[in-house]
Amino acid sequence: MGGGTGFAYHGILPGATGGSQAICPHSSEMTTVRLNATAWAQPASQNASRLAGLLIHEYAHNAEARVHLRAGRPSTSAWFLSEAWATLAEETAARLASGQAEGAVQSKVTAQMPNPGSVFLGLWGKQEAAGPWQVAGRYTVSAQMLMFLRELKGEVSAAPRTQTTFHQQIYAEPRDWTDHKSAVPALAASVGLTHAELVDRHALAAVTAGLLPENVIRERNLPSFRSWNPRELAVSDGPLNPSFNGRLSRTRNEFVDQWVPDGGYAAIYMMADANRGISLASIQPPDPSGIVRLTRLR
Ligand SMILES: [Zn+2]
Repeated sequence: MGGGTGFAYHGILPGATGGSQAICPHSSEMTTVRLNATAWAQPASQNASRLAGLLIHEYAHNAEARVHLRAGRPSTSAWFLSEAWATLAEETAARLASGQAEGAVQSKVTAQMPNPGSVFLGLWGKQEAAGPWQVAGRYTVSAQMLMFLRELKGEVSAAPRTQTTFHQQIYAEPRDWTDHKSAVPALAASVGLTHAELVDRHALAAVTAGLLPENVIRERNLPSFRSWNPRELAVSDGPLNPSFNGRLSRTRNEFVDQWVPDGGYAAIYMMADANRGISLASIQPPDPSGIVRLTRLR
């Protein structure tokens, strides 16, 4: 196989035998996962945690294919959505394996447990080229947005439960889930928000992730992530690390181009520096469909 590290049969490829019993009553409905031999032969891939995460990811695709095929739909949803769901299966498995139903920290996910996937890679505006509805963001910002949506729906804990899940709720809706233009507003509406409101709340949660005290988040009802606690990550990989590439100096002039895709966000951070102030100027007016926000974190 070509790019990528793994692949799950959905039952629609030539020669695939994993089709649904909704199509053929004799189907075994067995999940088949094909691994990329070239990618997995690399030293960096000799990693059980990564392999476990990948297998969970591919099994999630297969489970989703069953849901769609049984409803008489194509076996996959819009590209951003199916990859985002499969990535959420990875992060949920990592929380379950590490006994952290919610508010999980990554350092407790050891090398003996499935890797939580790439759900945090787009935090703090570090992946500004990738929006939640773009193909480039499907494993990162899209997954993060979906996790945020799921939390807004009240589904925070990874602990097994008997209620209908967010996944089951949205896919019970008889719509064409391959059409991303209608899927996005439908997802936002499922939590009572417009597309713009969802994007705005998600952006605020993402750019402040791990940077605000819990009591401030609670008292001011600020959007935040609950499944994971990104505080530790903000120190190692985020704005609290002095070498974070989104931090600007207060002692010299800097010009920054900010490119934001549809539904996405970008951020720059200026840390407190004694009594030094800042002066900001927008050289080119922002796109009127966008929102520019200056947020003081403390
Ligand atoms: Zn995938």
